[in-house]
Amino acid sequence: MQQPITVKDKQFTLSISSDTIQNSIQNLANKINEDYQGKEIFFIGVLNGVFMFAADLLKRINIPCTISFTKVASYEGTQSTGKIKQLIGLPENLEGKNIVILEDIVDTGFTMKSILNQLKQQNPADIKIATLLFKPDSFKENYKVDYRAIEIPNAFIVGYGLDYDGFGRNLPDIYTVVK
Ligand code: 5GP
Repeated sequence: MQQPITVKDKQFTLSISSDTIQNSIQNLANKINEDYQGKEIFFIGVLNGVFMFAADLLKRINIPCTISFTKVASYEGTQSTGKIKQLIGLPENLEGKNIVILEDIVDTGFTMKSILNQLKQQNPADIKIATLLFKPDSFKENYKVDYRAIEIPNAFIVGYGLDYDGFGRNLPDIYTVVK
């Protein structure tokens, strides 16, 4: 068994290897490439955590696309505050566009709901959600999470873009907190 690693003041153990992450992203890209044939995609990435996933996914998209980013924060330490702070707003002129929102992780679904509500006001042609990680036992909303690369149990994770108090985003694998 792998030795736990320390990020800031907590210990974490390896839970998803870089190879598994990359294979899951390839499968997800294949589905998106198939579903959007003959169309254009306007990706909107939700910063900060999405930066690695967005980069690795877009390299595998082979149909015309553009990308822009919005920035929100709801976590402090290992807990969701339940309040969404919008730090960079959504792009404008989304009317008639096929939007795919990119998230690192959908947990309770609260952050995504607030982004969806704002996006709908701009009358895009279509809105779909693609997330690297999904916590089914934690999800409390009733909208569809269209593309989910990896489903995980309800525990705090770091790595591959996701942080613990700002640290751990640089790790190529994903680690789960040791209770
Ligand atoms: P939700 O609003 O769906 O509960 O949470 C979404 C946001 O919370 C994600 O974009 C992410 O920033 C953060 N988050 C949720 N679960 C985790 C986790 O296990 N680890 C980390 N680092 N962030 C998480």
